[in-house]
Amino acid sequence: MRYLPVFLDLQTGPVLLVGSGELVRAKLRVLLAAEARIRWYATEGAHDVHGLEPAQLARIEFAKDDPLRADLTGVVAIFCAGAGDVGVAMALRAKSVGLPVNVMDDLVHSTFIFPAIVDRGDVVVAIGTGGMSPVVARRVREKIEAVLPARIGDLAKFIGRFRKSIHARIPDMSLRRRFWERVIDGPIGALVLSGHRDDAEAVLKGIADPCAFAAADASGRARGHVTLVGAGPGDPDLLTVKALRALQDADVVFYDELVSPEILDRIRRDAVRVPVGRRVGKPGIGQEAINKHLIEAATSGQRVVRLKGGDGFVFGRGGEEVEALRAAGVAYSIVPGITAGLGAAAQFEVPLTFRHEALRISFLTAHKAADADIVDWSTMTDGKMTVVVYMGMTAAPSVRDGLLAAGRSPRTPVGVFARVTRPDAQAAVGTLDQLPDLVGQIDGGPAILIIGDVVAHSAPWRRQNLNQVISDLLETVQ
Ligand code: SAH
Repeated sequence: MRYLPVFLDLQTGPVLLVGSGELVRAKLRVLLAAEARIRWYATEGAHDVHGLEPAQLARIEFAKDDPLRADLTGVVAIFCAGAGDVGVAMALRAKSVGLPVNVMDDLVHSTFIFPAIVDRGDVVVAIGTGGMSPVVARRVREKIEAVLPARIGDLAKFIGRFRKSIHARIPDMSLRRRFWERVIDGPIGALVLSGHRDDAEAVLKGIADPCAFAAADASGRARGHVTLVGAGPGDPDLLTVKALRALQDADVVFYDELVSPEILDRIRRDAVRVPVGRRVGKPGIGQEAINKHLIEAATSGQRVVRLKGGDGFVFGRGGEEVEALRAAGVAYSIVPGITAGLGAAAQFEVPLTFRHEALRISFLTAHKAADADIVDWSTMTDGKMTVVVYMGMTAAPSVRDGLLAAGRSPRTPVGVFARVTRPDAQAAVGTLDQLPDLVGQIDGGPAILIIGDVVAHSAPWRRQNLNQVISDLLETVQ
């Protein structure tokens, strides 16, 4: 590490900015974001101020004199960008008086370099590569941006406000650290990060004995938190940023069978993993028992994740779990996931709605043949409605019969999409009258049915049609 990252307090004096063109404007943006007072020497022509707000302009002093003769008293740092030889001369002058100077893309003349920055208010991450590769720095920044909560700066500010008063009440330093760790990792932190600062403040102020709160161990008194996380249909890259964060923060994860192994791989290594789902032919532990586990784990102070395939609120029984948590007074939050129907639509190019062709979507389940009978097919008569059926494999014959009875054409395009977004995804397309046969072509679930004219736009349908055209053509030729 040749360069030490430090944070300059730009309130202590003006900075000098030397240069012109797009390069200097980029620097200007960063310095303005840091609320700097800027003395700007434009090296070529006039100062280009377009797009700057009045409040920003008020912080800029437009210098007209020669920067090489400028008074440097009280100046915090000097930035040169697009300044050519003047920049180099300025750097020599700055060095001679011991002022930090950066000449853009010029390590030789700079005494400090400019990092790539992740700016979350009071939380700022600076990334440097020793000036070797700004592109690498930018990639690292993108990765950090992705995992850092949007409101992490709010959390720092929140803690800053209470620091003094809490410190007065917890004399022991290590206990103090533990206190803030519990605040950050627990429900109070979660509330701030989800934008509920007032609620977080109420909970924090409600801590009667901060020392006892800090001292409680994992199985102690402090309440935990349950995050209901939608894992999406299988591809781990389809996890949301929030979902990934919850998996990385978890102490324990209760997951369903539908969750793919690649997604389980993203769980924090030390977290306990508990499978609770049912498998075809094998019952799970049951909803009541799952609710009980969630509540017990949370009340023992753990960060609990309830991980479900797709979205927890789409045929995922998430609603029941949330009700149970609410009844037990357990704090929870909900992270949506990409539901299987949307995963299938994206992967196989089925536009679920289409101008003039498909104006409505129904998501329904036809779990067993018996359940499928409960579906009121008379609501599915609209030919411009796309029907997406979850858990419809075994019920495929009654789905077909129901839709035909509702007056849907036997020629309606349908698709059976299995293991969508996974490496072994599979599709079978055809018409409504063929639905049970199409299901028979599938090598294993989970699979989702999509029924409606829009399936004719799908990639497998187009491929099948092309094959048909080719074989018809070949027949004519022979
Ligand atoms: N909560 C889930 C649905 C659970 S119900 C979601 O939002 O996706 C289980 C049904 O979802 C399966 O029977 C199947 O119809 C569908 N399903 C889930 N994952 C799937 C996948 N990867 N490919 C196709 N269908 C899937």
